[in-house]
Amino acid sequence: MYLSVIIPCYNEEKVIRLTHQALHKVLDADAQTRNYRYQMIFINDGSHDKTADILKELCEQDPCSRYISFSRNFGKESAMLAGLQYSEGECVVIMDADMQHPPELIPTLLSYYEEGYDQVVTKRTRTGDAKRKTLLAKLYYKIVNSMIDVQLDDGVGDFRLLSRNAASALLSLTEYNRFSKGLFSWIGFKTKVIEMENNKRAAGETKWSLRSLLHYGIEGIISFNNKPLRLCFYFGTILISLSIIYVLYLLYSYMRYGIDTPGYFTTISAILFIGGIQLFCIAILGEYIGRIYYEVKRRPHYIIDETNLDQKPYRRR
Ligand code: UDP
Ligand code: MG
Repeated sequence: MYLSVIIPCYNEEKVIRLTHQALHKVLDADAQTRNYRYQMIFINDGSHDKTADILKELCEQDPCSRYISFSRNFGKESAMLAGLQYSEGECVVIMDADMQHPPELIPTLLSYYEEGYDQVVTKRTRTGDAKRKTLLAKLYYKIVNSMIDVQLDDGVGDFRLLSRNAASALLSLTEYNRFSKGLFSWIGFKTKVIEMENNKRAAGETKWSLRSLLHYGIEGIISFNNKPLRLCFYFGTILISLSIIYVLYLLYSYMRYGIDTPGYFTTISAILFIGGIQLFCIAILGEYIGRIYYEVKRRPHYIIDETNLDQKPYRRR
C-alpha cells in the first residue's frame, strides 16, 4: 500500500516543523507494523513568512516529503486540489498544518480504509468553543441542510482519508468555485465518520476572520443548488397574488362607496417592500451570474511557483 498525506500550509512557520516531525513519528511506526510506504506533500499556499524556506529545508533532508509552492495565496481549497492532483498514493489523507488534526489518528483512519471504506471522515466535537459560536453553527447547518441537496455535517472538517476512487471522483469535479465540504459529500462512497476531540492549534493564528466565515456561509448555500432562485419565484408569486387581491378590493370599494384615496402610507410602504424584494432577488441572481463568470473563464485553480515533485499531476483517465 502507498499512502499520501496532503498538508496545506499558509503562514505556518511556527508549527510546520512540529507537524512534520509528529507525522514522521506516527507514520514511521505505523508503516513498519502495517507494512506500507508513504509520502507527505506540503502545499505552501503563498505564505508571506518563512514557511517556504522551512519546507524546502525539510524536504531536502527527508526523502518522503515533497512540497509545492504557489505563486500567491489561492486558498485552502486550491491547495487541497493541488495535493490531490499530485498525490500518488492508493489512499490520501488530508490534514491541517496546525496540529488541530492529530497525526495519531491516521492509523485509525487507515484501519477503516482497510475494512473497505472509501471515505473516513473525522468529526470534531465543539467542546471548548464559545457557546454563541456553537449555537450559530448549529443554526447555520440546520438552515443550509434544509436548502441544499447534499447533507453537510457540523464539525466534519477536512481531516479525512480518501481512497484513490474517491480522490479521482473528486478530481473529476472541475468547477472553479470549490466548496469542498459539499463536494466531499456529493461524491458519496462508503463513508465512516469518527469522532475526535476539538484541539487548539499548536501555534500561529487561524486564517478565518468573521468576514471570511460569512463568505464561506453564503458559498455553502449558493454553490450547491438553485433553491435560492426558486425563493425569488415564490416571492414573486406571493406578491402578484397579494397585489391582485388588493386591486380587486380597491375596485370593489370604489364601486360601492365611491373614490377613497388610501393615502401616502400605503404607497410608500408598497414601493419600499417591492423595492426590497427586487433588490434581494437581483442579489441572488447576481451571485449565480458571478459564479458563471468565474466558471467560463476557466482559469487554473492555482499557479505553481516552485516544487520538488517531478511527476505530472494526476488526471482522471
Ligand atoms: N490554509 C491554506 N490557505 C489559506 C488558509 C488556510 O492553505 O488561505 C491552511 C492553513 O495553513 C491550515 C489549514 O488551511 O493548515 C486550516 O487553516 P486554519 O487553521 O487557519 O483554519 P481553522 O483550523 O481555524 O478552521
Ligand atoms: Mg486550524
